[in-house]
Amino acid sequence: MPRPRKSSPKPKRRAGHPLSRAPEPGKVSSPWTLGRSRGLQILQLAPFSKLPWLVHGFSTRVGGFSSLDGERLLNLGFMEWDTPENVNANRKKFQAALGADDLTLAPLKQIHSSLLYPFAAVPPRPCKGDASSTNTPGLLLAVQTADCVPILLVDPKKRAVAAIHAGWKGTLARITEKAVGRMRYEYGSKAAHLLAAIGPSVGSCCYEVAADFVSKFTAQFADAAEYFDEARSGEEPNPLQWLNMAPPGHQPPPKGVHLDLRKANRSQLLAAGLRPQNIFVSDLCTACRTDLFFSYRKEGALSGRLMSVVGIRSK
Ligand SMILES: [Zn+2]
Repeated sequence: MPRPRKSSPKPKRRAGHPLSRAPEPGKVSSPWTLGRSRGLQILQLAPFSKLPWLVHGFSTRVGGFSSLDGERLLNLGFMEWDTPENVNANRKKFQAALGADDLTLAPLKQIHSSLLYPFAAVPPRPCKGDASSTNTPGLLLAVQTADCVPILLVDPKKRAVAAIHAGWKGTLARITEKAVGRMRYEYGSKAAHLLAAIGPSVGSCCYEVAADFVSKFTAQFADAAEYFDEARSGEEPNPLQWLNMAPPGHQPPPKGVHLDLRKANRSQLLAAGLRPQNIFVSDLCTACRTDLFFSYRKEGALSGRLMSVVGIRSK
């Protein structure tokens, strides 16, 4: 499909469909869409875009006012290498690109916890926690990531939403499962009605962790063995087998294993009662795709922050 020429009239924006679709190198797989708006590229989920009262989006690094090595970046977190002015301008631009200028951004001070805040209004200062929820129109819930898993929950029946930041600590502390329970408590949301979007995050391909993560997770989750990649190449023993074999010490300890945080969080959503067909997992790996995303594992301190947002339109 040819790219629209600059002189062509802008497509009319409709509520719930603020972005024009643009084919990109490395297209995203359905039902995800990578839309272009105001020089930015934003990842969205078609089943969410269908809801006219809902605003949502997963940012990418493309565009923005921040600058690093000559690249224009949409850094949405207050990082040492960037100025607060740039970050604030980027946040404004991101909201405008989503058609969400009139919503008030409600970011969190993320601490890798399992704390969730139900917001009825935007707090004067960001709360220390890693998830938030609301059924109040006009609030734009936000989580920031650079490899960790961003998860957006939407209840189309009760018109309530949640945003979750799940790194390995939050995942281990069951933040995603707890968020579903909290939505039931706060808004009467039935898990079977909830839709979930698990956004771009580090894939197991790029997420090597210490071998003791296996025992950390198997102590908490019955299906934890499925979150870890099986045998590694070479002569090392399979860490999972090694853990199941007694006594330890007869073989050299394994170096590391690969953890699939997406799978772990999907599993929590299923355990909480979500239907498999209502859970949408992006297969985009932030560390493989540093052309599109920020990755702490790949870029370290010079990584920016992505933002995943969800909110209810006020009109
Ligand atoms: Zn990867």
